Amino acid sequence: MDNISNIMAAIVAILKNNGLTELSLGDYAEQDDPTFIIWFDNDGTPYDDPAIKVIVENSEISVELEARDFSNNVTLQAYEIDRLEWWQGLHTGVLGILEKDGKRRCPVCGKPLRARQKYCSETCRKFAMPQPTPQEIAELANKRIQKLIARIAQGNRKLRAELIEKYIVKL
Ligand SMILES: [Zn+2]
Repeated sequence: MDNISNIMAAIVAILKNNGLTELSLGDYAEQDDPTFIIWFDNDGTPYDDPAIKVIVENSEISVELEARDFSNNVTLQAYEIDRLEWWQGLHTGVLGILEKDGKRRCPVCGKPLRARQKYCSETCRKFAMPQPTPQEIAELANKRIQKLIARIAQGNRKLRAELIEKYIVKL
């Protein structure tokens, strides 16, 4: 999963399918790979603190951090967490905690997996696939157009050049 909204949807589904509305990630000092998230206090001072709990309410995610310079925790709303790697870290953390029971989970929906399955279903596998970039889509289209031009122009080099100039997408 390579975008924040897909990862957020996966985290919501994983908690729901495991009957949870919140999941403690545990003491960050004991987490394998805690996710540190930058947050700002009311004066705009940044802090970098570890995520300790993921909460889902009405399909909205919030994340509790252990504010190490303060005596209480801080809760961030999803929109305040705007880096892909933070979401990837939270997603890995959530699955890691759930899988402590020895059962592997589908990374998209959190349902238990059978041996050697990577996703529980074709739907989840497709959801997890990276989407092609506009550049990749244009390159693929150009390849097809080039083939078409070759068939139309045959040996006519002038026509071929004209068609390429006119129809190939410039990258
Ligand atoms: Zn699934």
